[in-house]
Amino acid sequence: MEQFQRVVADIVAGKLPQQSDNVTIYERSFEKIEGSNIIMTKSGTEKYLVVAGNGALYNELDGESVGDGKVCALTHHNSKVLNKHFEYTKPQAFGTEIATMGLGDRLGVASPGHIETVMNRKVKPILAQQSIRELTLLNRTMTDILDAATFAVFQEGYKDGYGADADHIKLEKDIEYALGLGFSFLTLDCSEQIRNDIEGATTDDIHKEFASLPVDRKEYYKNHYLNKSFEVQGLEISYDEASLHKNVLVYGEAIDFMEHVYTEYIAKADRAIDFEISIDETETVTAPEAHFFVAEELRRRGVTVQSLAPRFCGEFQKGIDYIGDINQFEKELHEHAEIAKYFGYKLSIHSGSDKFSVFPIIGKYTEGLLHIKTAGTNWLEAVRVIAQVNPDLYRRMHKYAEEHFEETLKYYHVTPDLDSVAPLAKTADEDLPAYMDHDASRQLFHVTYGILLTAKSSESGADLFRTEFFTTLMNNEDAYRASLVKHIGRHLDLLGL
Ligand SMILES: [Zn+2]
Repeated sequence: MEQFQRVVADIVAGKLPQQSDNVTIYERSFEKIEGSNIIMTKSGTEKYLVVAGNGALYNELDGESVGDGKVCALTHHNSKVLNKHFEYTKPQAFGTEIATMGLGDRLGVASPGHIETVMNRKVKPILAQQSIRELTLLNRTMTDILDAATFAVFQEGYKDGYGADADHIKLEKDIEYALGLGFSFLTLDCSEQIRNDIEGATTDDIHKEFASLPVDRKEYYKNHYLNKSFEVQGLEISYDEASLHKNVLVYGEAIDFMEHVYTEYIAKADRAIDFEISIDETETVTAPEAHFFVAEELRRRGVTVQSLAPRFCGEFQKGIDYIGDINQFEKELHEHAEIAKYFGYKLSIHSGSDKFSVFPIIGKYTEGLLHIKTAGTNWLEAVRVIAQVNPDLYRRMHKYAEEHFEETLKYYHVTPDLDSVAPLAKTADEDLPAYMDHDASRQLFHVTYGILLTAKSSESGADLFRTEFFTTLMNNEDAYRASLVKHIGRHLDLLGL
């Protein structure tokens, strides 16, 4: 801890410490509050808070005494202390006033770059966004990702607010847990309640199934929807018997679940929560009249949502551009956007990273009433940095990813043409970063991140890549930040945000 002597002395004196060879100073984090002075620093590849003074902040932070101050590791306890003293380090809800972007920092090191990307734009960052699936794959917890966001916001001195999304939550116990931890955004995944078997069922079967519903239910749906026509921002939506029966059977149980979660958890929360409904992770493409049906039912039942994610036509595969008929997409996106405007919530786009060919369409019709989730693209940018600065590590990871690709297919739907990936042995070091411009190799890395970052040597049990990967990134923080600003910035430019 000797390297911190001078930093501590400056902090004690209330002066901004100078950068030195062995301690990096994050100048924008410098704060003086109620008798305590504090700053974020880095020594080697580890970050520490340096604090001095006699205020509550100083007393509450855990750390090692150095001179007249303390050097504090980035622990969960210290994260909670920052939350208590600096309101801006806590996640917050944004409602529907401004566009939001989910940036799910898979590694816990991308948020500084994300913050720089969104500064002075018409969008707020949801810095923490993690599904249970991703946490499981990476051995991280909900607490880890909130702590990482807290420290990143503090490091950057970013005071414009950020959100934290408990993404694709299906179970009530996970909802309770996430809200208890301080998450500000909940994405309810209704895929277990949406019936996928109806799409292929015969009219006769659908009719029979509908007939077996309780009488009051049938009456309710008939009275409100059958042969009624709804005027939605110039769009006309109506339901004949076949389409009504189908929508009731596909979405009925899911809507009951949304209502239950809203009443039990969202409405009872002690603070504002951004509540998103996701009906995207199903095999059934959400037709505009299905979207309207779900939204109208939520309205009738008094359920307020801030965003809703339909499943759009075409394919939104991870890490690559849109696949499908762009004209059809434009027509349907327009209708979905009008429905969202009519009800006053944001249209949410999942797996939204890298969809460059459709961003202008999304920007045009949503007019800022938009939530877009990107996740994993920041990991690909990290891999790009590795390819630039540590070719040897890149090569070992690439080879391992190819060997283990098959194992990921139970989690992800991707269809890369791996034969189109240039053979690694014939690729020169300076051409390695170009792998991150190639669809199939992007997807290869996109889906193997969990496998790569948890891979262990079968002999020693040591991490195969993880330690070296993070060390390389931490030694090249500026390169990583720059590549995120460029890549995510291109998304925002095309979306008009
Ligand atoms: Zn989704």
